[in-house]
Amino acid sequence: MTLGKEIDGKAFAAKLRGRIADIVPDFTGKTGRKPGLAVVLVGEDPASSVYVRSKGKATVEVGMESLEFKRPATISQEELIELVEELNADDRVDGILVQLPLPKHLDDKAVIATIDPAKDVDGFHVVNAGKLAVGDPTALVPCTPLGCLMLLKGELGDLSGKEAVVVGRSNIVGKPMAQLLLGESCTVTVAHSRTHDLASVVHRADIVVAAVGRPEMVKGSWIKPGATVIDVGINRVPAEEEGKTKIVGDVATAEAISHCAAITPVPGGVGPMTIAVLLRNTLVAAYIRAGFPAPKDI
Ligand code: NDP
Repeated sequence: MTLGKEIDGKAFAAKLRGRIADIVPDFTGKTGRKPGLAVVLVGEDPASSVYVRSKGKATVEVGMESLEFKRPATISQEELIELVEELNADDRVDGILVQLPLPKHLDDKAVIATIDPAKDVDGFHVVNAGKLAVGDPTALVPCTPLGCLMLLKGELGDLSGKEAVVVGRSNIVGKPMAQLLLGESCTVTVAHSRTHDLASVVHRADIVVAAVGRPEMVKGSWIKPGATVIDVGINRVPAEEEGKTKIVGDVATAEAISHCAAITPVPGGVGPMTIAVLLRNTLVAAYIRAGFPAPKDI
């Protein structure tokens, strides 16, 4: 039995960060300043705090400026909107990221709608979602699906004509993933919780992207022999050792690896790409805002 290859997202992300670090001095030379990423963290959620710290560290490591704005969970909607408006007007800031989820009393849609689309490096603003839908190359695209696409192109090269099944239809992963694959001329199916006979639908695919949030839901036997599998899921489950937990994806990797040609592991697959693409989007936004063409091949 031949086993599929593991796609090394960590190494791919490190290379992308390296390319970004090589380009930053060109931007600084042209503009006299570093590209800047502002991250807004509301409240003390431990997972969000960890993400924000890693984003800040990665930003500084590629030579960009990291600006962190921590606000208490008691902040009002008006105060948060005011902060985003200040960042929109701040010329040091090329990218604005509001760490989600926000505390329940805050309206994340209204906050995201306030972000200047030119600084929306998460790609969640409707202007960027619309640009992606109509194939406008100036769209800022959500980081996780763009990272998945980079891994797929790195692995397979030209994707045109391939049958792709995306499981999940969220605005942050499934839908933009489907748009990106369509943009690469794949034949795209988007599956979700109402899809009938998901196993057969997945079995058609040359490319499977699982973004469901259900531990190991996609079984090995569902995968067409030779398919490429991108596992976006991050699910914490009990580990074999009493009282411990571990992270698993949405695909039963131990089974799937003997069916597929290649698969992203969890952790170490898609996860590391998300922050690297955030830096990429910030650099692209910085060039465009400064009136220069975005660098090619990043
Ligand atoms: P959402 O909960 O927003 O969306 C999940 C999607 O899966 C929905 O469209 C839902 O369908 C579908 N779904 C749920 N159950 C089933 C089922 N039984 N069969 C088929 N489809 C189903 O999740 P996200 O898109 O935000 O995230 C998905 C996963 O990716 C999570 O594990 C998350 O942690 C992870 N993630 C990882 C990132 C990374 O950096 N690696 C970044 C972002 C997310 P319906 O619409 O019908 O309800």
